[in-house]
Formats: sequence, structure tokens, C-alpha cells
Amino acid sequence: MIKERVMEILSDFPAGVELLAAAKGRTESEIQEAIDAGVNLIGENYIQEAEKIIRGIGKGIKLHFIGHLQKNKVKKAVKMFDMIETVDTYELAEEIDRRCKEIGKTMEILIEINSGREGQKAGVFPGKAEELIRQIARFENVKIAGLMTMGPFSSNPEDSRPYYIETRKIYEKIKRLNFPNIEMKTLSMGMSNSYQVAIEEGANLVRLGTKIFGERLG
Ligand SMILES: *Cc1c(COP(=O)(O)O)cnc(C)c1O
Repeated sequence: MIKERVMEILSDFPAGVELLAAAKGRTESEIQEAIDAGVNLIGENYIQEAEKIIRGIGKGIKLHFIGHLQKNKVKKAVKMFDMIETVDTYELAEEIDRRCKEIGKTMEILIEINSGREGQKAGVFPGKAEELIRQIARFENVKIAGLMTMGPFSSNPEDSRPYYIETRKIYEKIKRLNFPNIEMKTLSMGMSNSYQVAIEEGANLVRLGTKIFGERLG
């Protein structure tokens, strides 16, 4: 089933759009099945879970951190992940930079935009994004590679469109400003119920869980 779903999803993708399998709560064999079907990018929300799957995961498979990253987990995270998609504060970027220096690594990050301006949710508000990006761009061992957003959840995918449009606009603006040490190349938007809309609005990385693996049980 997973295999058929992945192949169907990939066959509909326009060129240049990447699929990330959001693996939270899934077993190693489910994740392996997705990989066998052509997924080469896995997203993890939790460090502990990622530690479990990382041993079995083959070479050539990239791992993105897509959850809320606590500062005390950064040391582990920078060793395990190829990209951290959810950077939304200066302090978090600073800690990533510090821990990367220790191991001689440069971490690609995305800036998470709180496009719905929802108080309790992660992400920098749209109006504060440029300032944050300017500050983070100075770190030597952190490289901003684009933006990520979730947007408010709605069962109607059309409701997500304005949030994706707004995030895309920030992305384009930062790209035009052409800051040193920033390469705006990744726009991570869209989940199972809204990824088609996200792709229409310029996403080139979509994060799918349910659509690949089925409903989450836990
Ligand atoms: C779980 C998760 C997804 C995937 O959600 P689905 O609705 O199951 O596709 C995407 N992005 C993030 C950040 C997630 O935590």
C-alpha cells in the first residue's frame, strides 16, 4: 500500500518538487517501504525517534528535522540531520551554529514562518522574518536555504492558499535581496491535505505523512 501511494504521489509531481516522508509514529518497516518506493528524504519530529530509525536507514537518504527543536537537543540534532527546517529564533540558530562549529559542520536550515500568526504556534511572524534572517545570516556554520511554513490547519485545502502565498512572497523578497551566505532554494509548504495547493503556490518541498502511510494510530 505504501509503495503504491508513494508511486502515485511521485507520478503527479511537477519537475523540481521534492517529496519528504513525515515519519513520526511510523515503524522502521513502514519507512523502509517508502524508501523502497523512491522516497529519499525523511522528516522526523523527535530526536529519540530519529535515533531509532537512523541506524537502519541506508546511505543516500537525507534526514530533515521538522519538529520543535529544544536547545538542549541541538547537540544531537546537528550530528544526525542534513537540514533543520524549523528555525524560528536567533537563539536557536546561535546554538546550532555553536554545536556545528564543534564538529566542523555547516547546517542547512529553513526559517519557519508562522504564516497564520497564531500565538501558540512555532515560527517567526511574517513581519519579523526579514530581520531574523539578516541576523542569522551572519553565522558561519549555519546556512539559510529557504523557508518552511505549516499554516493553520483546515480540512479545506483552499483555506491554506493565502498562507502559502504570503510565505512565497517572503521567499521571493529575500531571494531578490540576495544576502550573502543565504541561498533561497527551498520552499517547504504543504501537508497531506493541502500539498497540491502548496505546489500551485510555489512549494518545491512537500511534507507528507498520512498520504503516504495512512492515518496515524497513535
Ligand atoms: C506530521 C507533519 C507533517 C505531515 O502531516 P500529514 O498531515 O500527516 O501529511 C508535515 N509537516 C510537519 C511539520 C509535521 O509534523
